[in-house]
Amino acid sequence: MLAVVLCLCMAVFGCIGCGGSEHPSDGPEGGQENARIQNASAGGEGRQVYAMEKVEATILKDEISAYPLAAAGQDTQNAGEQQKRKKEMELEVLKAAFEDMEAVEVYTTATVKVRTAPSLEADVYTLVKKGTVFQKNGEADGWSRVLTDGGEYYIKSDYLREKRKPTEGSHLIAIDAGHQNKANTEKEPVGPGAGETKMKVTGGTRGVATGLYEYELTLAVSEKLRTELENRGYQVYMVRESHDVNISNSERAQMAYDSGAEIFVRIHANGSENSKANGAMTICPTPQNPYVADLYADSQRLSEKVLDGLTASTGCRKERIWETDTMSGINWSKIPVTIVEMGYMSNPEEDKKMAQEDYQQLIAAGIADGIDAYFSD
Ligand SMILES: [Zn+2]
Repeated sequence: MLAVVLCLCMAVFGCIGCGGSEHPSDGPEGGQENARIQNASAGGEGRQVYAMEKVEATILKDEISAYPLAAAGQDTQNAGEQQKRKKEMELEVLKAAFEDMEAVEVYTTATVKVRTAPSLEADVYTLVKKGTVFQKNGEADGWSRVLTDGGEYYIKSDYLREKRKPTEGSHLIAIDAGHQNKANTEKEPVGPGAGETKMKVTGGTRGVATGLYEYELTLAVSEKLRTELENRGYQVYMVRESHDVNISNSERAQMAYDSGAEIFVRIHANGSENSKANGAMTICPTPQNPYVADLYADSQRLSEKVLDGLTASTGCRKERIWETDTMSGINWSKIPVTIVEMGYMSNPEEDKKMAQEDYQQLIAAGIADGIDAYFSD
């Protein structure tokens, strides 16, 4: 009965190991590190402390030039302490170079190191995940000063982007978290005017290792995608926000159109009888589709950009763009559409990876990168 629960029943493709990995970065030295990853929350009260630090740092600056360096023949331990002290003072000077600015909300575009001073030599305070939001209140020499845990810390500005508020007139994206908690086995035409019918909405697949249902995974990723898109200034329409719904695939397409959205992004996960099958694919109609041939070019381009973004972000295997006219939710669409098959829940490793919040965030950011690319062409 496996074939029945598979999200898509398809031939088995060759599989190569998926090198999914994440590289905490803030500069050329950015390697793996065992520091804890935490969600830093915005806020803090470092402003008054800052003024005092500034004065102190000015004094320290004068002190540095007068401070005796370890001379040849001196005790090496003593020299080490002096070097350490000198480094600390230099870092204080770097901190003092920051001009105050009105705080703005920013978010991280990668897993990044948050440091105690604006230098690659400064201690790492913590690692934060891609998409973590901070209040930024200063900028100098390619570093941003951010508030977290009631103090001021520093992140390379290359890995921060300003969080924009969704604005009137910005692109509206419809997201459909695939499936729901109960399949609807009634039939509906596969496209407008079609004689052929398909189940209104199937139950989807299920993680072989995690036991997670596809409808749970698709909503978890869709919610992260919504946040990611809103952070980038898009407006978002969600076809469903709970599991307890009964919406057929044709109805989902209609809802996406009725929302006024420009594109329709359908989030799914794959299943295969071959437990080794892995990687992501996107799905669009063929150029000969009897219902939506006019949407082919844009849907194909959307599928390509989203697949590129997702695989670049997660490092998972890029399977292919599957062009098919068998998907009701595509055939009933009235706007450019793509189905994102994020990975295989039938592959124990990929299943476990997709169940992780960090990996889900990489998927969401990758899809958003693809949407950015679609609209910037
Ligand atoms: Zn599915």
